[in-house]
Amino acid sequence: MSHNAESTAFRSALEVIRAVEPRVADAIGAELTDQRESLKLIASENYASPATLLAMGNWFSDKYAEGTVGRRFYAGCQNVDTVEALAAEHARELFGAAHAYVQPHSGIDANLVAFWAVLADRVESPALKKAQVRQVNDLTEADWFALRRELGNQRMLGMSLDAGGHLTHGFRPNISGKMFDQRSYGTDPATGLIDYDRVAEAAREFKPLILVGGYSAYPRKVNFRILREIADSVGATFMVDMAHFAGLVAGKVFTGDFDPVPHAHIVTTTTHKSLRGPRGGMVLCGPELADQVDRGCPMVLGGPLPHVMAAKAVALAEARRPDFADYAQQIVDNAQALADGLLRRGATLVTGGTDNHLVLIDVSGYGLTGRQAEQALLDSGIVTNRNSVPQDPNGAWYTSGIRIGTPALTTRGLGTAEMDQTAELIHTVLTQTTAGANADGTPSKAKYTLDADLADKIARQATDLLAPHPLYPGIDLA
Ligand code: PLP
Repeated sequence: MSHNAESTAFRSALEVIRAVEPRVADAIGAELTDQRESLKLIASENYASPATLLAMGNWFSDKYAEGTVGRRFYAGCQNVDTVEALAAEHARELFGAAHAYVQPHSGIDANLVAFWAVLADRVESPALKKAQVRQVNDLTEADWFALRRELGNQRMLGMSLDAGGHLTHGFRPNISGKMFDQRSYGTDPATGLIDYDRVAEAAREFKPLILVGGYSAYPRKVNFRILREIADSVGATFMVDMAHFAGLVAGKVFTGDFDPVPHAHIVTTTTHKSLRGPRGGMVLCGPELADQVDRGCPMVLGGPLPHVMAAKAVALAEARRPDFADYAQQIVDNAQALADGLLRRGATLVTGGTDNHLVLIDVSGYGLTGRQAEQALLDSGIVTNRNSVPQDPNGAWYTSGIRIGTPALTTRGLGTAEMDQTAELIHTVLTQTTAGANADGTPSKAKYTLDADLADKIARQATDLLAPHPLYPGIDLA
């Protein structure tokens, strides 16, 4: 692939957009500049390839394609069928799954598809059966009442938010917390690790319909074989949300007990985090749940996005190449180097380190809240996000943690030496930031002071660190 082709493609696209609304073209250009200049340590973000990005910007976006491959509710879907089938095939091959549903528009949507599929599969309800076979018009008021009562009474056991779980695993701000009666499992307060005996105990007491594994902010491997045994022991369906670490599964860094696909009944993911694809979601499952999963649209999803499915096919093809495994391993090597660098300088890390792509710093050791630390780092050109730590005294808004991840910087080509330098920059900012006070003298959880010259100096050092690793080196918009 010549650099020229990429530059020409994006320059031409911007020229066409500029002719209609120049401010959009300018914003797109500015976004590239900003992304090039910032030290992006957001654990859930990455940089998709030019091929993946380009696959999204075309006339596939104009096509409606409700239904599934070969069985659409719209005419003229033969080309959508091609890309959807390709994306699903790549996904099945890459992850060793019997079935892949590539229509979900995001991770939240993928989880909703999975929840509905499990409910429809597991809940004994004549009314639901009628609804499933599209005899919706035959449902009586009593049927609807029974349906709502039966579905609304189901139980979900997932990882608690402050231990690293995700909102969609049964928490109130998400519909899952309203659909399900939820209970959480946390982590051992001494080690920060999942205590599988406690999970088993909670499962025995609570008897969930669905046991959810997976996380947004847990820096360790999870043993999915043990979680499956726990699910089986109480008759639960075992679902894993691998949104964060799908790239590590694809790259065969997580294998055996740590690969969720052979152990879970159903696996959901995003495609845009460590997997490095377009923004989107996906569901993998065995043949038993495939039918229900394929009802995702229109059951809970709007019409499929064929342009994004095309981009998923491209990104999944990239992830099947041997160099993706090197990339995935480097993500983890980099996260471990970052963790070691921080620990050597005196930082406190949840669980004392990492086995995956993310590191969770407990910034209370620096006398800061997560909110103060996040903002001070941002002032210094380092983009992270605040995150709760287990048993967080500052709650989910201010928090006591900073979550950092390496998938994006690894895509740029930074290695372990640069991770040590990154640790130095982070540690310097955090030691030089002081918590502020409110007008009445009480400690503020948001205000802080950081010398502006120091922040500028760190931002320049961050830019220097990135300079040898240009983002999208093949793209020159000038
Ligand atoms: N599941 C997990 C574990 C996540 O971390 C996230 C997002 O951060 C999601 C689901 C939701 O993904 P999306 O933002 O694509 O809906």
